[in-house]
Amino acid sequence: MNNIKIGVLALQGAVREHIQHIEALGATGVAVKRPRELDDIAGLIIPGGESTAIGKLMVEYDFIDAVRAFGEAGKPVYGTCAGMILLAQRIAEGDQPLLGLMDIEARRNAFGRQRESFEANLDIAGIGPFRAVFIRAPWIEAIGEGVQTLAEFDNIKVMARQNQYLVSAFHPELTGDVRIHKYFLDMIEEA
Ligand code: GLN
Repeated sequence: MNNIKIGVLALQGAVREHIQHIEALGATGVAVKRPRELDDIAGLIIPGGESTAIGKLMVEYDFIDAVRAFGEAGKPVYGTCAGMILLAQRIAEGDQPLLGLMDIEARRNAFGRQRESFEANLDIAGIGPFRAVFIRAPWIEAIGEGVQTLAEFDNIKVMARQNQYLVSAFHPELTGDVRIHKYFLDMIEEA
């Protein structure tokens, strides 16, 4: 397990906390700042932050095609919050650069002002009870046939998987719980 390298896209957003969770599992976490660094990693996390900013920087640094090729080669990609928006095929409103790797539609800032940031107890398929931190979170508005919903909150889809792609609307790196990162590590080991 020690030799598995997981990259965290390090253009903007919550990078360090993901790397700490990866290292807590005994794997190696790498901050990815250039597309060629994708060659050295077995899986990629796209962190939370601002999806418009991350998307623009991905265009500027030639990451869009590079991450698409990475995912299409079967390598696991996990998007949290803004990263979930970037992995989506469509967003409910607006127009911004997207990777479009996963057959979901995301709605940005979907929980509105009253629920700008909040915590909720989820029951995640394959993981169990999980305390989730949502920050100006998107939700999953619609999913395609091949997509499995892993968690809902108030009947709203907030975590899903489609083969090598995993998304969560919340931030698992902001709690001490490493089980979602372990789930992603298992996906990488199976790939
Ligand atoms: N609201 C942000 C966006 O739309 C996502 C927030 C987050 O990643 N915590 O990009």
